[in-house]
Amino acid sequence: MSQPSQPLLLIDVDGPLNPYAAPKQRRPEGYETHRLLPEGWVTRNAPTPRNRVKPLRVWLNPAHGPELLALPYELAWATTWMEDANEHIAPRIGLPELPYITFTNLFGDDPDGLHWKTRELVAWADGRRFVWLDDELGPPDIEWIEANHPGPALALWIDPRTGLRDLHFEALREWAEGE
Ligand SMILES: [Mg+2]
Repeated sequence: MSQPSQPLLLIDVDGPLNPYAAPKQRRPEGYETHRLLPEGWVTRNAPTPRNRVKPLRVWLNPAHGPELLALPYELAWATTWMEDANEHIAPRIGLPELPYITFTNLFGDDPDGLHWKTRELVAWADGRRFVWLDDELGPPDIEWIEANHPGPALALWIDPRTGLRDLHFEALREWAEGE
């Protein structure tokens, strides 16, 4: 069990773990190609019947699970995959089932121009220290979190062309030690 003093690591799937925007749409080295049909994707394609929905191509690096587990953080999903991440992503990279944030405003507009995840993510963290990894967060989210989250927090943009890299793991270790 992780220590209650550990910060949360809130993980997005598409971008950080799945570098979907890799140059020339080529699978990056170290990654494996998966064709996945999560329930959330089937729902979003309604009324197309399940057997006509094109599976998602997802690149995953099996080293990422052990690397994430070795960090001094308590891991949780912060992704449109929500519970589907536990079924489709976690076992393919060696992660156990993780808590996930239930987003109710998927892809919705925000009156202040925030990412649709930001408010629910901060509410879910409930004052605990956290790092958020995402390829879509921006300066307004970083500012809003600073103003509205009572604890230390780091919103770390991850380039969807490369996904998580060594420098991110180093930054995560440093931040956990420093806070
Ligand atoms: Mg993403």
